[in-house]
Amino acid sequence: MLSTEISTTDSGGAGIIDKLRWKLSNFMQQRNGNDELCRVTFIVSIIVYVLSVILNSSLLYLLALCGIIYSLFRMFSKNVPARQKENQQFLQFFSLQKKRFAMRKEYRIFTCKGCGKHIRVPRKKGKVEVTCPICGRKAIHRT
Ligand SMILES: [Zn+2]
Repeated sequence: MLSTEISTTDSGGAGIIDKLRWKLSNFMQQRNGNDELCRVTFIVSIIVYVLSVILNSSLLYLLALCGIIYSLFRMFSKNVPARQKENQQFLQFFSLQKKRFAMRKEYRIFTCKGCGKHIRVPRKKGKVEVTCPICGRKAIHRT
């Protein structure tokens, strides 16, 4: 029964591997598959797992296990729009952190001694007098 099935569907009879590959891609078609969030969760979980072995921590081991289960769940999830939204939010969060990091190179952040407000001043302008926009307190800062 099986052999006749193969011979009718496979033109060259090249093999069971192709058939399995096709079945796998068919299986994954309606699923979310591998995305950035999956990959990061998986890699972090592996790192946490290694740490759990080094530190002999069952809590870290449990965390790693949860992370791996979560990334597998995302990969095989059929609710693709929800998973894509999560991935999008994750990517947005990362680009925001990247922007903040880049800003740190261009600006210095001072804390006003009067009210505690953070004031952003461009770097490499020498000594400047910074006036707080909230309380008006002035201070000399080296940028
Ligand atoms: Zn102030």
